[in-house]
Amino acid sequence: MKILVINSGSSSLKYQLIDMETESVLAKGLCERIGIADSNFVYKAHGQTIERQIDMPDHKVAVKLVLDKLTDKDVGVISSMEEIDGVGHRVVASGEAFKKPTLVTPEAMELMEQIKDLAPLHNPAAIVGVNACLAQMPNTPMVLVFDTGFHFTMPDYAYMYAVDYSHYEKYKIRRYGAHGTSHKYVAEEAAKYLGKNIEDLKIITCHLGNGSSISAVKGGKCIDTSMGFTPLAGVPMGTRSGDIDFAAAEYIARKEGMDVSQMLTYLNKKCGMLGVSGVSSDFRDLSAAVEAGNDRARLALDMFAYSVKKYVGAYAAALDGVDVVVFTAGIGENDDKVRAASLENMDYLGIRLDPDKNAHCPRGTVAEISARDSKVKVLVIPTNEELVIARETIREAKLA
Ligand code: ADP
Repeated sequence: MKILVINSGSSSLKYQLIDMETESVLAKGLCERIGIADSNFVYKAHGQTIERQIDMPDHKVAVKLVLDKLTDKDVGVISSMEEIDGVGHRVVASGEAFKKPTLVTPEAMELMEQIKDLAPLHNPAAIVGVNACLAQMPNTPMVLVFDTGFHFTMPDYAYMYAVDYSHYEKYKIRRYGAHGTSHKYVAEEAAKYLGKNIEDLKIITCHLGNGSSISAVKGGKCIDTSMGFTPLAGVPMGTRSGDIDFAAAEYIARKEGMDVSQMLTYLNKKCGMLGVSGVSSDFRDLSAAVEAGNDRARLALDMFAYSVKKYVGAYAAALDGVDVVVFTAGIGENDDKVRAASLENMDYLGIRLDPDKNAHCPRGTVAEISARDSKVKVLVIPTNEELVIARETIREAKLA
């Protein structure tokens, strides 16, 4: 069984072909600058990377190039397109229109059109990606897998905003969350690693990357998450503000002469670590700047760790206790200083890191970094969102 996973951006398309018998990646890569000059095509298979500047005027051409490479006599990994049993498409926002992975049908795509404006940069790209794949593989089952899907188990008091209820009814204004496939994956992997039934565990999953979100997972189900109606909420991120008093944003907008859409761009692209430090959105650059004595970089990192810590405390309360804390994604998997600062002085909750295990945490594998006597297990787990999408594709398309 082979599943192609597609993650379409407005001018990019990431892909992975996964052999589901072994859950291993056969080939993967990226098409960048689609529809822009100097399009770039990257294909990785057999331990080799091929990178070419090839004209890609649209996503259809990009998908065709991907399929040509996958079936290429010399560098391909399959002999024909028919070997692809299904295609899983990542979709950022679902609104309340889709509460679970959904088979691609004309009706589903009609619904996708209706929720385009929930994620104006991402959802239209997903539609383009699906149509590009359908044009090449009209008979292959395809499934839409939503970043928000894992969070639909939140109770109403966790997902509702305290606004006029009619606005929830009319516009479905509420918390949806993000990174659902990642939270689901690492929570399940944590249970597997500990040899426990996920139904018996209270897990806090910290997906800390360019975008960061934290979830409270009880018995395998999400009961709360830090991102909101869009991925702007929660902890401060690379370039996103995270939680902010709306009145403060309005005040800046008034003073700086920004309209609402400019304000949103500001909050999404100019704030967070970049805005506070004035250095970079990348945590490696920030660490280097701190070493060099930059106090605003220090401030940005302190704010980030403090915010993560507050969410861990809040979710321990929401879960009525906590058994496991998991770190994942670029920062969570790699930045031991952030991990240590985020869980500092939490012995009273039974959370104690082993400084040595944390500092020398092996990369690319599940690692336990809590002290031997820590009541709460702290794990670092490499995320694998594509694998979750591929598994959901098999389940939803009933391929197994
Ligand atoms: P996304 O998938 O959201 O684009 P990632 O999960 O790949 O993001 O995380 C990217 C971030 O991870 C980078 O911006 C960087 O700050 C951080 N990161 C990656 N490697 C390291 C590292 N070795 N040390 C510290 N931070 C790192």
